Amino acid sequence: MGANRQKSVDFRGRYTPEAAGAAVSGAEDPAGSRSHNLLLRRRASLMQEPVLVLNATYEPINVTAVRRAMVLMLKGVAQAEELHNSEVHSASHAHRVPSVIRLLAYRHIPQQSRALSRKNILLRDRNTCQFCGDVFPSSELTLDHVVPRSRGGRSSWENLVACCYRCNNGKGDRTPEEAGLKLARRPRPFTLHTSRQLMRLIGHRDERWRKYLFY
Ligand SMILES: [Zn+2]
Repeated sequence: MGANRQKSVDFRGRYTPEAAGAAVSGAEDPAGSRSHNLLLRRRASLMQEPVLVLNATYEPINVTAVRRAMVLMLKGVAQAEELHNSEVHSASHAHRVPSVIRLLAYRHIPQQSRALSRKNILLRDRNTCQFCGDVFPSSELTLDHVVPRSRGGRSSWENLVACCYRCNNGKGDRTPEEAGLKLARRPRPFTLHTSRQLMRLIGHRDERWRKYLFY
């Protein structure tokens, strides 16, 4: 989710100057910097919680983070359809955190709309190393060129997989066959079908997503 954070517009700075002191509701404790740090960490993780994005037609099209979703709402691009129990507040306002948002203008989604990116490849591979099959946090995964670049392997959906550092080091500049490794499954482009599967997977954590995803 790190890449996602970098891409999103600075929520506090650019769109809500009054939210500069935004904090998770009920957790305010002015005494002591340790509890302040705890508060900041809690707020940071809340801002990274997944939010389901619906098209204007209520069709689920994406998953984003709370931070990005709130930017879209503040810009008037989207509105909240379902709200989280938590809220962030500033000196003057409390904002309920969205769980599902809907774009106000219809957005045409081309058949293959997913950009080839580290984030999307990790999503497609569900943060699972495609060689040893273990699940890792994003920070502990790298992208492996199945056919190494030095051997003409391209940076494409079909040639990039999520890979832990241990397997990546073990593989080196070799093909999986040469290194005695086997791919968990053949890498494919990220289709709308794939992403809906993933939205359902993530949606199992949030009851409020159900009616948009399970039909
Ligand atoms: Zn591995």
